[in-house]
Amino acid sequence: MERNVNLPIIFLDRDGTIIKDKIYLNNPKEIKFYKDIFMSMKKLQLSGYKFVIVTNQSGIARGYVSRKNVILIHKKIREILKSKGIKIFKIYFCPHHPEEKCGCRKPAIGMVKNIISLIDKKKSFMIGDLPTDIEFGKNLGIKTILIKRKKLKNFSVKPDYIVKTFSSAAKKIISLEKKC
Ligand SMILES: [Zn+2]
Repeated sequence: MERNVNLPIIFLDRDGTIIKDKIYLNNPKEIKFYKDIFMSMKKLQLSGYKFVIVTNQSGIARGYVSRKNVILIHKKIREILKSKGIKIFKIYFCPHHPEEKCGCRKPAIGMVKNIISLIDKKKSFMIGDLPTDIEFGKNLGIKTILIKRKKLKNFSVKPDYIVKTFSSAAKKIISLEKKC
C-alpha cells in the first residue's frame, strides 16, 4: 500500500447507519439499506471521499452470528453498493465480546490501525448512530456526525454535528467542503 498519501475518508458505522439495525443480523438476505444511502454515498464519492465501514460484531463472540456469515454479509453489502456505482475501500469488524477488552472494539481504533497513516484527518469524518461511534471518531482525531435515529441515554460525548438522516449527513459534509 502507498505511503504518505492523504485520503479523505468517510468512516461509516454499519447497523443503524447505512443498513437498518437488526439485532445480530446473520443472513445476507436480511440486509436492508436506508433508502437515502445510495444517492448520498454517490455524491460523496463524486466529491472524492473513500468509504471505510467499521462495525462492532460482538454477536460472533456471543455465538449468535457466525464469522462466515458476517463475511458473506459484507460481501453482499459491497455487491449491492457496487451495483449502484459505489466503491467501498475497506470493511473492518470487531468480533470480540466487550468483556474481552480487545483493542479493536469501537470506541477503540485498533480496527483501522493498518490505514491510520493514510487518513487525511482534516478532511475525514465518522458517521454513526451511537455515542461509541462518535468516541471512535474523536479517538481517531476526525470530525464526527451523529445520525440521531433514536433517543440516546447518558450521551456525554459531543458530536461535531447531529442530523436525522444519512442524506443530511452527506449534505453537511459537502457544504463544509465548499466553505474551505
Ligand atoms: Zn475486538
